[in-house]
Amino acid sequence: MRTEAVPGALLEISGLKTHFFTEDGVVKAVDGVDLTVYQNRTICILGESGCGKSIMARSILRIVDAPGRITDGRILYRAADGREIDLATARQGSAQLRQIRGQDIAMIFQEPMTSLGPIQKIGKQIVETILLHRKVSKAEAKEEAIEMLDRVGIPDPRQRFEAYPFELSGGMRQRAMIAMALSCQPRLLIADEPTTALDVTTQAQILDLIAELKEEFAMAVMLITHDLGVVAEVAEDVAVMYMGRVVEEGDVYAIFENPQHPYTRALMASVPRIGVTKSGRLPAIKGMVPHPLARPSGCPFRTRCDSAMPGVCDTSVPDLVPAGDSRTACFLFSDATGNG
Ligand code: SF4
Repeated sequence: MRTEAVPGALLEISGLKTHFFTEDGVVKAVDGVDLTVYQNRTICILGESGCGKSIMARSILRIVDAPGRITDGRILYRAADGREIDLATARQGSAQLRQIRGQDIAMIFQEPMTSLGPIQKIGKQIVETILLHRKVSKAEAKEEAIEMLDRVGIPDPRQRFEAYPFELSGGMRQRAMIAMALSCQPRLLIADEPTTALDVTTQAQILDLIAELKEEFAMAVMLITHDLGVVAEVAEDVAVMYMGRVVEEGDVYAIFENPQHPYTRALMASVPRIGVTKSGRLPAIKGMVPHPLARPSGCPFRTRCDSAMPGVCDTSVPDLVPAGDSRTACFLFSDATGNG
């Protein structure tokens, strides 16, 4: 777990564990995540489904459903006034947490109806969000909501202000959700697979829109995805997750051009590249992700890793250490005591 402050960090997550206590056993969905989100940068959290990336994001906002709960670790948020707040231990229901959730940190989802109420007009929902977090009049909130609908590319925003979510197309609903999330000008936008359900053209438009708004509002973006194409398009930083842990983090060039962790290397090798003409099939990562209730001892990737070292990789869990241009959790770069 890191102890010293990281320059430019907006959010520092260290040793975060979020476990689900089910009748069949404890599912360690997030099991020791170390991660830094920097101001005004876009970080993509990359991983297969079930690797814990969404639960990690929900842990930040403290919206993990029972029987899940944070059992250990720190989520250090640096507020605009310089205060450091540990979101992992902030009291649920406190005014401080309510203010951070929605105003400082906003989240959008794959399915817009997760955020938008089905029987309330779009405009009214955005106005209520603004009034909840900001000291403005109703009339001012309405004008801001219309401006924001316009800003996210919704045609006839004054008319659409009066529309119900079901009257909009999927792409427009996604834009309305982004408008609502950004109406309080958050410092961090968390986007959980925001374009997965959309066609490729709308997907590209929404990603461009998020990138544009990130610059305009000078905010950080955490984009959760399983799609390497999305990462290549928008990421500045990348964290690769596997079985509830970050196995490699670095800037996008380091991760794509010089991946270090065997899992990241296998992921990158499975991507077709323009101009590279290899005959035959693209390599696939061998084996399957283990069942969450049957985690292997030691390194979680060892059952699929060609470089696994018996007696080393099965004895303890590797920590993130500098390797190449990134930070990597693998005993090829550190010994079992964690020394690089
Ligand atoms: Fe493979 Fe061992 Fe590195 Fe895990 S620690 S990725 S098993 S070499």
